[in-house]
Amino acid sequence: MKTRYAILSDIHSNLPALQAVLRHLESTGPVDGIWCLGDMVGYGPYPNQCIELLRQQKHLAIPGNHDWAAIGRLDTTDFNPDAATANRWTARQLTGGSRQYLEGLSETLMVDDFTLAHGSPRYPIWEYITSASIAGACFSYFQARFCLVGHTHEPALFVYDEGKGTCRQQELPEGLWKPDKGRWVINPGSVGQPRDGDPRASYLVYDDGEGVFYHHRVPYDITATQEKMMEEGLPSWLVERLTYGY
Ligand code: ZN
Repeated sequence: MKTRYAILSDIHSNLPALQAVLRHLESTGPVDGIWCLGDMVGYGPYPNQCIELLRQQKHLAIPGNHDWAAIGRLDTTDFNPDAATANRWTARQLTGGSRQYLEGLSETLMVDDFTLAHGSPRYPIWEYITSASIAGACFSYFQARFCLVGHTHEPALFVYDEGKGTCRQQELPEGLWKPDKGRWVINPGSVGQPRDGDPRASYLVYDDGEGVFYHHRVPYDITATQEKMMEEGLPSWLVERLTYGY
């Protein structure tokens, strides 16, 4: 039976971006669920609303560093000052229900051919997979064919050559992508704070029947998010960067 899953990461309390992605997803046809790769909250102005909207969907989720910091499971000394400020604001906003939801998430998940980890399968909460050498070192930390990660906010693909024991990076194109044989680390980019120079929300749909992925970029009302951030007194650099997708 053919199944389709949406892969979302780093929503970061950006409700207009999440709403736009869900509307777009609906327009692509029915899906069997959403896999959310962490950092639902942090940076943006709508933490509870994003969690509530996500909870209305059939979904699985794992936590990111911002989620853990917001519930006090991680301290923010390694955060940059703006991220730490936004995180303290987030922690004050979270309702009991949101907190409970974030507390209940396990660090990694395995579903069919996929391992889900926010940063990497080696250090799920913190490691950034920013190069082929880091990705290459991570392949022995998961068994599945695919490992889905977020955290860097940049769409990316890494493929492992079992014979040579080497890993190379490949661009994740917009639209249809059919993976070659082999094992992959896949980053869908960020819904709520893209950092690859494209301000549009980024996400993936996986089609099990065809064995293909679709990489979608979705415009959303950036100004609406920015105005709410200013109203809440969130750091201005965090407001500005949404314009540039950086
Ligand atoms: Zn993030």
